[in-house]
Amino acid sequence: MNIGILAVQGAFIEHDRMLSRLGASCFEIRQKSDLSRPMDGLILPGGESTVQGKLLRDLGLFAPLKEKIEAGLPVFGTCAGLLLLAKKIENDERRHFATMDITAMRNAYGRQLGSFSAEAEFDGLGSIPMTFIRAPYIESVGKNVQVLSVVEGHIVAAKQKSQLVTAFHPELLEDTRVHRYFLDMIRTAV
Ligand code: GLN
Repeated sequence: MNIGILAVQGAFIEHDRMLSRLGASCFEIRQKSDLSRPMDGLILPGGESTVQGKLLRDLGLFAPLKEKIEAGLPVFGTCAGLLLLAKKIENDERRHFATMDITAMRNAYGRQLGSFSAEAEFDGLGSIPMTFIRAPYIESVGKNVQVLSVVEGHIVAAKQKSQLVTAFHPELLEDTRVHRYFLDMIRTAV
C-alpha cells in the first residue's frame, strides 16, 4: 500500500512516522511530478488551511488532487486537512477541495482553549486519546456523512465514503488505531 502525504506545510512528518510503524509505505507530495507515483490513499495533515490552500494552488497541485479525491481516492484529513475537505467553513469565506458534505467551524475552541486533550469513543475503536491544536469542529453534516466521534457535544470525526476527517491529531500520539482505521478504509475501497 502506497500513501501520499501532502507535505507543503504542517505536521506531515508525524503521519509519515505513524504509517511506517504500521508497515505502510508512503511518500511526500511537494510538487506536481510527485503525483505520477502510484497512490492508494492521501493524507492531508494539520497546519494552516489558508497557507496550505494557497500553496496547493501556487504549486499546481490543487486541481489534480481535487480530481483524484472526487474520483474516489481514499483521503484522510486531520485538522487543517478537515478544513481543506469541508464544503463549507462557517467562519471563513475560503473554500478548498470542498468535497465533503460537512460544515466546519475554524479555530472553534477560541484562544483560551487553543490546545487541549480529550478522550472519547471513536466508531468501533473504543475510547481513544485526542490532541486538539487550534482545532476546528464540525458543526453539521450532510445525510451521506457518518459521525464517528463527538467531544463535548461537537462532532470531531466523520466519514463520507472514502473521505475521513478528524479535528484532532492522531499522528501526534502513540495510539495507531485511527491510522489503522484509514488503512482499513483503503483496503475495503479496493
Ligand atoms: N487553525 C488551523 C486552521 O485554521 C488548523 C490547526 C491545525 O491544523 N492544528 O487551518
